[in-house]
Amino acid sequence: MVLAQLGGSISRALQQMSNATIIDEKVLNECLNEITRALLQSDVQFKLVRDMQSNIKKIVNLDDLAAGHNKRKIIQQAIFNELCKMLDPGKPSFTPKKGKTSVVMFVGLQGSGKTTTCTKYAYYHQKKGWRPALVCADTFRAGAFDQLKQNATKAKIPFYGSYTESDPVKIAVEGVETFKKENCDLIIVDTSGRHKQEAALFEEMRQVSEATKPDLVIFVMDSSIGQAAFDQAQAFKQSVSVGAVIVTKMDGHAKGGGALSAVAATKSPVIFIGTGEHMDEFEIFDVKPFVSRLLG
Ligand code: GDP
Repeated sequence: MVLAQLGGSISRALQQMSNATIIDEKVLNECLNEITRALLQSDVQFKLVRDMQSNIKKIVNLDDLAAGHNKRKIIQQAIFNELCKMLDPGKPSFTPKKGKTSVVMFVGLQGSGKTTTCTKYAYYHQKKGWRPALVCADTFRAGAFDQLKQNATKAKIPFYGSYTESDPVKIAVEGVETFKKENCDLIIVDTSGRHKQEAALFEEMRQVSEATKPDLVIFVMDSSIGQAAFDQAQAFKQSVSVGAVIVTKMDGHAKGGGALSAVAATKSPVIFIGTGEHMDEFEIFDVKPFVSRLLG
């Protein structure tokens, strides 16, 4: 279910409840069940939806509803607040500072949009006057270095990588050292992915992270992976200290639910979203407008 449809379903559920002459627990439950179904279809994880439902029940006062206050508004506000809370892990992510060297490591499965997002992130900062640099520590996928090289060249961003070296840790360390010497203030390390969550990948991420000591690890997630989002995000979080999330492919048939799951699993905020294949199709993630859009 895409974002707009989810908003529509929730609005319909609220409308149906508003139309009821008596608002009792049964009517409220029916409304919440409808909303639950809509959220599940949007790939919000079952446990999150269940928690949200019980929180709303605690917040919404049936007497207020019965007294004829604007029921729709009361419940809509409660849902809005709950969804905002779910997307806010309570602490901001580490934010690199211009002019001060930071190492940012990107992790995610193959095809999630990691390499594209690394360049978008670099380009975004470069436009604001930073000196970013890209390191290709993906020695697993043939063609990974060429892809990063092409992107980096297009954006005129310095890059580091190797066609012959097979040790990702060695390349990552060399790249980071090289760019530290060149006074780059945002050193971005692109890492390998796999099609599936595999032990070898997580071990490699742990080693690259240990060797490069990143200031921030960003987990890149494809918004179309559906209910798999929670487990995938959690698996990365367990091997490296993920501090932020970027959700890609929010254009097209984007679902919002995965973002909620990724935040819950990593206890880290979503900081940007990818909205297309191009370098500048990249937006800062803002909780309230996102939830407003979700609710239609
Ligand atoms: P990686 O294997 O994780 O490094 O993924 P890539 O960066 O190679 O991206 C995989 C595919 O997704 C490529 O065709 C990208 O152009 C595409 N892609 C990445 N981000 C986005 C996005 O935000 N929107 C769309 N529509 N496509 C994207």
